[in-house]
Amino acid sequence: MSSLKDRVLGTGDGVRVRCEFDDWEFSPRFTDGVCPLCGWRPEGIVEETPLVQRMDWFMVMLVAVVIVSIVMGILVIHAYAQA
Ligand SMILES: [Zn+2]
Repeated sequence: MSSLKDRVLGTGDGVRVRCEFDDWEFSPRFTDGVCPLCGWRPEGIVEETPLVQRMDWFMVMLVAVVIVSIVMGILVIHAYAQA
């Protein structure tokens, strides 16, 4: 089983595993975590995008939208007060 740390941070793009059945080296990240030849699933590999990477862009966008909303609100109130 993959640890919580691996699930959150990912096991990295550079991780390569050698299939013990057909001696084929592959990157689990790009093959859905399984061997492309026989479907063998290595232990401790997280094939999905790490939680940190998925969260980052969402949080950045959320913060940006909130900041833009506040700035727009201030501008509208400012313009309304001057009119
Ligand atoms: Zn294999």
